[in-house]
Amino acid sequence: MKLRVRFAPSPTGSLHLGNARTAIFNWLFARHHKGQFILRIEDTDRERSKPEYEIQLIESLKWLGLDWDEGPDKGGAFKPYRQSERLEIYQEYVQRLLKDGKAYYCYCTPDELEAERRQCLAKGIPPRYSGKCRELTERQRQQYEKEGRKPAIRFKVADKVVEFEDLIKGKIRFYAGDIGDFIIVRSNGLPAYNFAVVIDDALMQITHVIRGEDHLANTACQLLLYEALDLTPPQFAHHPLLLAPDRTKLSKRHGAVSVEEYKKQGFLPQALFFYLTTLGSGAQKEIWDKNTLIERFDLKMTGKGNVIFDRNQLLWINRQFLRLLPIETIANYAKDFFPEKTDYKTMSDFLSLIRENIATFSEIPNFWPIFNQPDISLSKEVISTLKKETTREVIKLFYEALDSGRDYETIFKDIQQKTGLKGRKLMFPLRLALTGQKSGPQLHQILEYLPKEWIKQRLKKVVFD
Ligand code: GLU
Repeated sequence: MKLRVRFAPSPTGSLHLGNARTAIFNWLFARHHKGQFILRIEDTDRERSKPEYEIQLIESLKWLGLDWDEGPDKGGAFKPYRQSERLEIYQEYVQRLLKDGKAYYCYCTPDELEAERRQCLAKGIPPRYSGKCRELTERQRQQYEKEGRKPAIRFKVADKVVEFEDLIKGKIRFYAGDIGDFIIVRSNGLPAYNFAVVIDDALMQITHVIRGEDHLANTACQLLLYEALDLTPPQFAHHPLLLAPDRTKLSKRHGAVSVEEYKKQGFLPQALFFYLTTLGSGAQKEIWDKNTLIERFDLKMTGKGNVIFDRNQLLWINRQFLRLLPIETIANYAKDFFPEKTDYKTMSDFLSLIRENIATFSEIPNFWPIFNQPDISLSKEVISTLKKETTREVIKLFYEALDSGRDYETIFKDIQQKTGLKGRKLMFPLRLALTGQKSGPQLHQILEYLPKEWIKQRLKKVVFD
């Protein structure tokens, strides 16, 4: 049987880095094993799901470089791929469970359930449903119906041990009795996550479920359902979660947490992809391209124990990708950081100039005016440095030689002989006069990039002002 995995986001917000990591693992696993990667939208939470979030999720996944073999926007043999369009399918399975006495209607109100929960907590036991509606008589049911109560449907959990072999965590055991009868259909008639996910994974012939370890308890519920419905469960792999430096779940209070935000901050998708993939496998010194990642991917790479998100590490990786990728690739992602209507050639020339000097595209606006406007503004500190005698001398000699028709190298040699200055001492004054900055692109690149007129104008100002 062909290996099939899925990413199943709920469209209730933008794509969180943690979920993006899960999506990447599934994608790499599928591509490594030449299997299939399916996108399924889990949108049965009517209040929180929004079509615009689905659009955004898909955009973020595509930006990261993921593609899928089947999905809501693509179709496929197991369509539909949106849970809200599969409600009839779930019905059939609910009916089966009800008929077999494996599920039952529960008329408890939210207030009653809350009171039960509090009682459990007061007794110091973990809250779980008491099973109060398990054995309702027909008369009791009718009475509740008459009162206008809308029932949920609960699954009858047996007192037994659930055991499975997790591909990352090894043997996992749960005592099902601790779970309590859980809801499979809510009182609004919509299926609960744990139920819909089982039907979908089974019908879509998913062979491996790779997801965060926060789903471990759900897996226990899901395995009980597979058994009750006589469906074959997939293999499970629960990877460690992405944590913030304070070792709590990475959330908004730690700063940017969505793929979209990182895009807006000027990161390259290749860098984010690489970082999220390799973060769990220890310090990453070597940059691999996507094909190498596909080739070498192993579930062990998802990490053991805590996986801590480190923005500085991501910045370092982004710098490496800015240096390594072909300029055309980089330019394709940088558009939003340039003034409107900047043409492609200007963008790529400019990026070639500054790519070694930036950590993210968000620094483009700092460099842009220096290299793309005739004048620059100099800080007081720079002006006073430029007034120093040796500095001014170098600039003057260079300025005077500009129209001599000699190449820059010959001019530098000449100035070196005249002043006795070389290396940085010789270059620094010119860099400062031409850019107003102490560091930046190499001087020969700057001289090549700036129009000669601007070079003259900037130097002249220093010499004669
Ligand atoms: N919709 C679920 C979520 O976003 C899917 C979890 C799963 O992979 O089963 O958490």
